[in-house]
Amino acid sequence: MPSRFASILRPELADLAAYEPAPDPPVDRILRLDANESPPLLSLEARRALAAAMEPDRYSRYPDARMKELRAAIAARCDADPDEVLVGVGSDEVIALLLTALDRPRDRPTGSRKPADPPTILTTSPTFVMYRLSARTRGFRVVEVPLDASWDLDVSAMKRAIDFGQPNVIFIATPNNPTSNLMSRDRLEAVIEAAPDALVVVDEAYIDFAPRAQLDLMRRYPNVGILRTISKVGFAALRLGWFLGPAELVREVDKVRQPYNVPTPTQRGATLVFRELGGEIARMTRLVCDERKRLAQGLVDLGFDVTPSDANFLWVSTKRPAIEIVKTLRERGVLIKSFHAAGGRLANRIRITVGLPEEDDVLLAEIARCA
Ligand SMILES: *Cc1c(COP(=O)(O)O)cnc(C)c1O
Repeated sequence: MPSRFASILRPELADLAAYEPAPDPPVDRILRLDANESPPLLSLEARRALAAAMEPDRYSRYPDARMKELRAAIAARCDADPDEVLVGVGSDEVIALLLTALDRPRDRPTGSRKPADPPTILTTSPTFVMYRLSARTRGFRVVEVPLDASWDLDVSAMKRAIDFGQPNVIFIATPNNPTSNLMSRDRLEAVIEAAPDALVVVDEAYIDFAPRAQLDLMRRYPNVGILRTISKVGFAALRLGWFLGPAELVREVDKVRQPYNVPTPTQRGATLVFRELGGEIARMTRLVCDERKRLAQGLVDLGFDVTPSDANFLWVSTKRPAIEIVKTLRERGVLIKSFHAAGGRLANRIRITVGLPEEDDVLLAEIARCA
């Protein structure tokens, strides 16, 4: 429908749809294993401490615009300097801030009379959708390079895309969503070395579930930043994500951040999480990793093929079209995620978030009926 605002709206919006979480299924009992959240494992004691910490001293005051305490707590936990920390309302906002700031069109050779190309991002396929969405809504060109047959980086194709696309920013999620695996270290470094003029954002949203972290890359390469979040380890409700990168870059990107972006309850709650709830996070991630093993085995016993996971979800191949399985489960109140709209090798793949053992037993019983 042509809107009366079409002549003044950003043209890319016409091709985009707003992000919509799955609607509630038509049953009373709903099991959500589609959003990679943590199961509710937080202790009552931690819940009480959080509630007390989140209360503002005064509701009438704006939040701390500099986020001094929170940035210091993050820096201490990540062995960084507070000046290297950029905080947002989820890593989703941090991605948007980075792209708003890093959108300079690449210079053409002097003398060229062609108009400048739009700025470009490079990422993999499949991967987290927000890179693409956030880039498209800011007028970026998006170049996506397919992962190889083991869902790992295809270095030569990435290098060609870097030469051809001259990206400003490269997003690599590792562990990757939805494929659940860490990218191999040598390939990741080869991509970083091939793009000295770009910012390479290493998205570690799932790093707490992986056998190794990649924070050292930021110290070894001046073009690397690390993106992290507390959403996947039990605190999605707080909406808190952060970027660790060179202070000279953080200082510039901070100019596009709204001064009061992170509300006081989130700042205070997250500060408590970093200072005092490390033990809770370790306990919760250990439980999820144990349960991940059991759920994967349960699916293998039913004849599914499961990619070894470094995250809190499983990437599962199905014999029947994924969409049929997802629809049948949905009707029974179990939500999982499929990527069938992309077609090709994704048409027979589903993503299942690891839940509580009793939740996963329900999933296994239901999926057994439609395998
Ligand atoms: C879930 C997810 C995020 C989003 O994190 P928020 O902090 O909740 O915005 C970022 N990156 C990847 C790869 C994710 O899967």
